[in-house]
Amino acid sequence: MSDYEPVVGMECHAELLTESKMFCSCRNQFGGDPNTRCCPVCLALPGSLPVPNRKAVEFVILTSLALNCSITRHARFDRKNYFYPDLPKGYQISQYDCPIGTGGWIDIEVNGETKRVHIRRVHLEEDTGKLFHTVGNNSFVDLNRAGVPLMEIVTEFPPDIHSADEARAYLMKLRAILTYLGVCDGKMEQGSLRCEPNVSVRKLGNSTFGTKTEIKNLNSFRAVQRGIEYEVDRQISLLENGERVAQETRGWNEARGATYSQRSKEVEQEYRYFPDPDLVALEITDEWIEQIRASMPELPDAKMRRFQSEYGLNAADASQLTETRVLADYFELAAASCGDVRSAANWIMGDLSRLLNADSGDISNCKITPQQLGAMITMINNGTISGKLAKSLIERMFATGDDPDTIAEREGLLVMRDTGALAAAVAKVLDDNTNIVNDIKEKGLVGKKGFLVGQVMKATGGKADPKEVNRLIDERLA
Ligand SMILES: [Zn+2]
Repeated sequence: MSDYEPVVGMECHAELLTESKMFCSCRNQFGGDPNTRCCPVCLALPGSLPVPNRKAVEFVILTSLALNCSITRHARFDRKNYFYPDLPKGYQISQYDCPIGTGGWIDIEVNGETKRVHIRRVHLEEDTGKLFHTVGNNSFVDLNRAGVPLMEIVTEFPPDIHSADEARAYLMKLRAILTYLGVCDGKMEQGSLRCEPNVSVRKLGNSTFGTKTEIKNLNSFRAVQRGIEYEVDRQISLLENGERVAQETRGWNEARGATYSQRSKEVEQEYRYFPDPDLVALEITDEWIEQIRASMPELPDAKMRRFQSEYGLNAADASQLTETRVLADYFELAAASCGDVRSAANWIMGDLSRLLNADSGDISNCKITPQQLGAMITMINNGTISGKLAKSLIERMFATGDDPDTIAEREGLLVMRDTGALAAAVAKVLDDNTNIVNDIKEKGLVGKKGFLVGQVMKATGGKADPKEVNRLIDERLA
């Protein structure tokens, strides 16, 4: 089986985070009551005229720059004509032969190696509406999404991607860049970032490409990876059995973990593209491009390198902490507020991410502010709370959003400051465990001291300072 090479092209659609739709002033927003955000322009009613959304054009220029593309100076909108019930106009306004960005690339990391994936084009179009099919053969259409600005990013041909792992890494990097730029929220589960890989296989060393299939409805990184893996295996077994791969669009069934035939693409659809007569060509000046370039934020790769050099983090930690811009900002604020980079990284990647995963998973909704996390780390570092009790403290902070010192005081989590009470606890543990005390004093079994420390910690509900407990035990054993 391994003498086949998978070949994967990636076509991604990203809904842009503009206030209004692409060619009208209807609000661009997810969800809501069906058909409450559409107007004569969205519906292309006679007499209505589209006006391009400047912000959307700027977002596509910004993305093209971030993806190392060349920017055309004369872009144009074209009509892509086809009939489908979710397309109220009977055509989609898109860009055919004059896309905004061409010839770019991004670098991805797979198995510790960096690979460059070339990008063919980045263009701007409008989204379609949504169809809902209910039991009893009823179909409904919601046109709230029709006309939402949509950016399409297509990888170069011949493709650089040759495995499901590489496809997943590409999509993750692309999503990171888009969310860092703030042009798309990257929510695959809501369809604001959609990915349609086309997959073929060929015998290693073959210069011709195999027949490709396109996979739709992949709404997570995992689905993209599994969908491609499934499709590669399916195509190889067809070829091994002397059958042929049909050129078609295939859907992804998450529950079954399998792709299924949706429609044949034997005949290339004729879209009769032509320049939209209602829209003038888009003149993009050097000055405009430079203005947009100046607003470019630090991108994931640059941030990751800086986290390694500035904070001394290893590549894996730096990569995890720069996964999203919000997370990276959170880490930097927490580290700055306690001055302890290592602890900030550990708490965020450990307990905090565990709590987030069990909840919404979204750090932007986290009740603990970076400053509060920093304050908690400072409390551990200056011995106000033990590292062990801090684990319960962070859970309560996560649930309530209260300050760490308030919670610690309220719930009695602070380290014991009462030296008399601590000395009494130590004395009691030693009296209760005379056999162990003897083992240590007479047989020199110093390893057993840990048990005594543990007993004192237990007796004090974990609130004793272990260093102080050790000191008191040593004093009494001397
Ligand atoms: Zn509208």
